[in-house]
Amino acid sequence: MFLGGGLYNKSVMKETNNQSINTDPILFVTKRPDVVMAKGKGAYLWDTNGKKYLDFIGGWAVTCLGHCPDVLVETLSKQAKTLINASPQFYNDQMLSYAELLVEKTCMDKVFFCSTGSEANESAIKLARKYGVLKKKGAFKIVTTLNSFHGRTLTTMSATGKPTWKTLFEPKSKGFSHVPFNDLEAMKTAIDEDTCAVLIELIQGEGGVNEVSQSYIDGLRRHCDETGTLLIFDEVQTGFGRTGKLFAYEHYGVEPDILTLAKGMGSGYPIAAMMCQSALDIFEPGDQGGTYTAQPLGMAVGKAVLETLIKDNLSENAYRMGAYLKEELRKLPETVGVQNIRGKGLLIAFDLSDEKGSELVDRAMEKGLIINSPKPNSIRLIPPLIITPSHCDEFVTLLKSVLSSVYQ
Ligand SMILES: *Cc1c(COP(=O)(O)O)cnc(C)c1O
Repeated sequence: MFLGGGLYNKSVMKETNNQSINTDPILFVTKRPDVVMAKGKGAYLWDTNGKKYLDFIGGWAVTCLGHCPDVLVETLSKQAKTLINASPQFYNDQMLSYAELLVEKTCMDKVFFCSTGSEANESAIKLARKYGVLKKKGAFKIVTTLNSFHGRTLTTMSATGKPTWKTLFEPKSKGFSHVPFNDLEAMKTAIDEDTCAVLIELIQGEGGVNEVSQSYIDGLRRHCDETGTLLIFDEVQTGFGRTGKLFAYEHYGVEPDILTLAKGMGSGYPIAAMMCQSALDIFEPGDQGGTYTAQPLGMAVGKAVLETLIKDNLSENAYRMGAYLKEELRKLPETVGVQNIRGKGLLIAFDLSDEKGSELVDRAMEKGLIINSPKPNSIRLIPPLIITPSHCDEFVTLLKSVLSSVYQ
């Protein structure tokens, strides 16, 4: 074999508490702990040894209704017995009723369904380029922000402003530039007559939970209007109640031309969407599609998730639990080094006084708590939106014990 053996010896037989696990057939893409997850309910996960974890990552900001909620189990089994996939060639009943509900609950008029956030952003990029061709003399450039995250397809990697990705997989898709977040002048300078769109997260999630300021987003909306540049909000992480409103744009009173959604949309089931104003209903046959677009199983799930979020007022719960968690974090003694507590709703982060983020994550796993470190010096919390004050108290108790084990 060209690479020879043993260049990367990452997958091996590992002994865990009471069993050996064979990770050998899994292609290496990331380091994972020696734990095998087997079961979930509400805010908890269990591994194959029966160890219980309080899950404050929720499938990476995905399981907004918690693990295996009854409403999803019932919806999935009912729809699975009725129609799983009708082919993208036809409308289906689930697709039509879900689209109607989404249009009613957002500021958008039209929806294209897909399966992942990356695909939703790819769709938005294609729609913006189509707009450039039809309405702006072939404008094709898209401006995004530094430390943004827009996905892992090659084009959404090109859109992403992660400094460490800059030289990966060259040549990447052309036409993307990245400017500092919350810097309106830099954005204005980057937008020229060849620019068809700006793509931005209202709160950068993977970038460490950084929020746009009101004046920035107001100014950006105005400048996009003045220059005929489309404004795309990537709400893949912030949508569906995560930030304490159904969609994060509601906090700012600013509406985009294109909105991308995924993560919480299916509460763990892979569905995503690109939504737009009716003036952007400009795709022609062949421009966009997908084998799994609007498949009935996913559509039924999406509708059940959105109805449940609204019925149970989970945005409001996210707001209240987020406020409570931040208040409890602020009570931690200064000596543990937790600082710069930030975020909206249940998209929260704090910084550490050093770069021990990944050590903290490992220690937390040992103690039965799942958290995430988007940057070496910060910790992010994205629990399910169904959590109660007692989950928050349990989290704080576990976190204190983790902090004292790391900072003793
Ligand atoms: C996760 C994420 C994506 C990518 O979504 P996938 O479903 O992983 O493709 C895009 N944008 C943002 C803001 C995200 O958080």
